Amino acid sequence: MDLKKFADFLKENDVPAFRLKQVRDAVYKNFAATWDEVTVLPAPLRERLKKEFRIHSVEVLETQTAKRGDAVKFCFGLKDGHRIETVLLKLLADKWSLCVSTQVGCPVRCPFCATGRKGLKRNLSPDEIVDQFLAAAAYLRQTRSQKIGSVIFMGMGEPFFNYESVLDAIHTMADPEMIGLGQRHISVSTSGHVPGIRRFAKDLPQCNLAISLHASEDELRNELVPLNVNYPLHQLAKAVSDYITITKRKVFIEYVLLDGVNNSRSQAAKLNSWLRAVAAPKYFTINLIPYNRTGGVYKAPAKERVQVFAGLMETYGFEVTVRKSMGDDIAGACGQLAGK
Ligand code: SAH
Ligand code: SF4
Repeated sequence: MDLKKFADFLKENDVPAFRLKQVRDAVYKNFAATWDEVTVLPAPLRERLKKEFRIHSVEVLETQTAKRGDAVKFCFGLKDGHRIETVLLKLLADKWSLCVSTQVGCPVRCPFCATGRKGLKRNLSPDEIVDQFLAAAAYLRQTRSQKIGSVIFMGMGEPFFNYESVLDAIHTMADPEMIGLGQRHISVSTSGHVPGIRRFAKDLPQCNLAISLHASEDELRNELVPLNVNYPLHQLAKAVSDYITITKRKVFIEYVLLDGVNNSRSQAAKLNSWLRAVAAPKYFTINLIPYNRTGGVYKAPAKERVQVFAGLMETYGFEVTVRKSMGDDIAGACGQLAGK
């Protein structure tokens, strides 16, 4: 919610300033989504607020729950009519993670990703990012009495093309006076925005960083992640290596598996040498993401081929996880968010 505007509203209407903290706690700590839930306020004030002030800058237009019940996709409407998507994922029993969007569309235009298809419409404001959390948290509390334990910036958009808003939103999420998640429960995924990685190391050294690598040769990476043309692999290598030196933290390497494109044995070997030139294997967790269908020419590898690639990387000494496709039946899996 726009707390600054709310503070102004209180002032203009001669409402005592202590109401601000009451409302802030109700919205950011207890996830009130309607004024009726903010029962500490006198009824006449609540009635006025209902007419004059919206709690969330995003409005739930639709929620879809995956058949297995382990993913919930929200379609949110923004004030200017744009739409974004946010996905709640149940990673372990009752451990929910929220995948938030940072832009309407994405300027990077990776050819396998539904978000990139339409290009960038606009950046999200800090409130529009945080309010995805508040609205999803309210939903989870109401429907299942459960809480969100972590946030991943892996929805629509390239977070580091909207750096200031992302930084501001993370501060609100991590601040114990506000949501109070803790930086270690927050992860940001980038397609390789080098200046962003450098700033992130200084500004938020306790947060987790994920790099969407997908290829370890420039020719192929230029095609799969067009931002590579601006920040080629040698620059990315230096930025990630400096990040590790500064933060002493592990980095997550995301690698979407596209059959016949980037999943051969020799490509596994190249990935090994690229990573080793950046830092020792203990500094990486490789997250293999079998391609989720988005239309177009790519195919997911057969299960056995995923296992072969994973096995090779393990033999090279890396920690490897294969991402379970969650929410693909509601088009809520990685790369499928289009804000339709
Ligand atoms: N823009 C950021 C974060 C959002 S994308 C980034 O690219 O890192 C989150 C992850 O989903 C990225 O690793 C992305 O490459 C991956 N992804 C995109 N489309 C996909 C698809 N169709 N199947 C599987 N993973 C996909
Ligand atoms: Fe943008 Fe990430 Fe999709 Fe690439 S994969 S188009 S960077 S959202």
